[in-house]
Amino acid sequence: MRRLTLVISAFFLMVSCQTVPYTHRKSLVLIPQPLELELGLNTYREILSKSRLSHNRKWITMVNRVGRRIARAANHPSYRWEFKVIKNDKVINAFCLPGGKIAVYTGLMKLVSNDAELATVIGHEVGHAIARHGAERMSYLLLAELGGMALQEALKKKPRKTLKLAMIAYGAGVTLGVILPYSRLQEYEADHIGLILMAKAGYDPHVALTFWEKMYRKFRGKEPPEFLSTHPLTRHRIERIKKLIPEAMRYYHKR
Ligand SMILES: [Zn+2]
Repeated sequence: MRRLTLVISAFFLMVSCQTVPYTHRKSLVLIPQPLELELGLNTYREILSKSRLSHNRKWITMVNRVGRRIARAANHPSYRWEFKVIKNDKVINAFCLPGGKIAVYTGLMKLVSNDAELATVIGHEVGHAIARHGAERMSYLLLAELGGMALQEALKKKPRKTLKLAMIAYGAGVTLGVILPYSRLQEYEADHIGLILMAKAGYDPHVALTFWEKMYRKFRGKEPPEFLSTHPLTRHRIERIKKLIPEAMRYYHKR
């Protein structure tokens, strides 16, 4: 029996191992991609149904313009990209759900001074999405919360709970009162992929450095907003970004 379990587990591991684009890390994701896309779409609809969209033309155009360029650089044919600006000045946050559903809150738009700075944020969020970080976290949450119930079954039997877990895993629910920071490893990875995507999209990756430094100075010693508590900014993280710039610049010059 134990042997059978081992064989099944080994098979499961084999089919669920994936390689993260650009960083080539092997990660364990127990959620098949089509299901992940479905969950992303459900989460997106749930959030939009509870949010007010911004009517600020300038910001809507900006998020669409920058978002499309990052999306093209991400080159992810199974994604159907959408870009929204959600009206909530108190929320300094942005997300990209699986399937390419991107939203930026007005609270964050106020801190962004140009396209390249917005590309830093969107590139980073798209980095989390194409690295499937949410699905990776969701895999662990499912195991912990639902005792390893298969996701398909969980969605059928406990749809509300599964959706709530997805929002936490994707860092997309701002009203839940639960903030689950991405792991440091995932943050570094999203920074890394984000820099490459912004460079491929034609934005100078050096701007990422000045933008994160600006945010670091602005919120140093203060209660951090959602975006920075789920994306902790430290000197160490900024130093890592600095080291990654030469690699990103090769993509910038290759265009
Ligand atoms: Zn992040």
